[in-house]
Amino acid sequence: MENTELREALQSLKSTKVRMTPQRHAILEFLFNCDSHPTADDIYKSLENNFPNMSVATVYNNLRVFKEAGLVRELTYGDSSSRFDSNTTKHYHVICDSCGKIVDFHYPGLDEVETLAEHVAGFEVKNHRMEVYGTCPECRKG
Ligand SMILES: [Zn+2]
Ligand SMILES: [Zn+2]
Repeated sequence: MENTELREALQSLKSTKVRMTPQRHAILEFLFNCDSHPTADDIYKSLENNFPNMSVATVYNNLRVFKEAGLVRELTYGDSSSRFDSNTTKHYHVICDSCGKIVDFHYPGLDEVETLAEHVAGFEVKNHRMEVYGTCPECRKG
């Protein structure tokens, strides 16, 4: 499956001189065709049959390369595994408390919050993250 974002990502990777390997391509393709914000482990499990020599560490290293190239965003959650987001435009997340699924939603950027935080705390604010928690439709069906 091809999509525009994936094609653009592959194109911009070319310009960074990151060597494209079949594994790398598969990881990137998986990420761009998946909107559930997978962990390195999720990606590994989905691809391990096609790449017997691949390890979770390989997946992780590749994700780091993509992150440095600005193609994916890493979402960290304390001690739990990072999730990876192929959508690098500004958006917010709603997260299911039961299954951990993360769904994108768009809402006008809360720039005032950043400005206020800057004034109140004297920080140089770089960005913010807002997450809404609840129970997803699948888990609600129980
Ligand atoms: Zn759920
Ligand atoms: Zn997202």
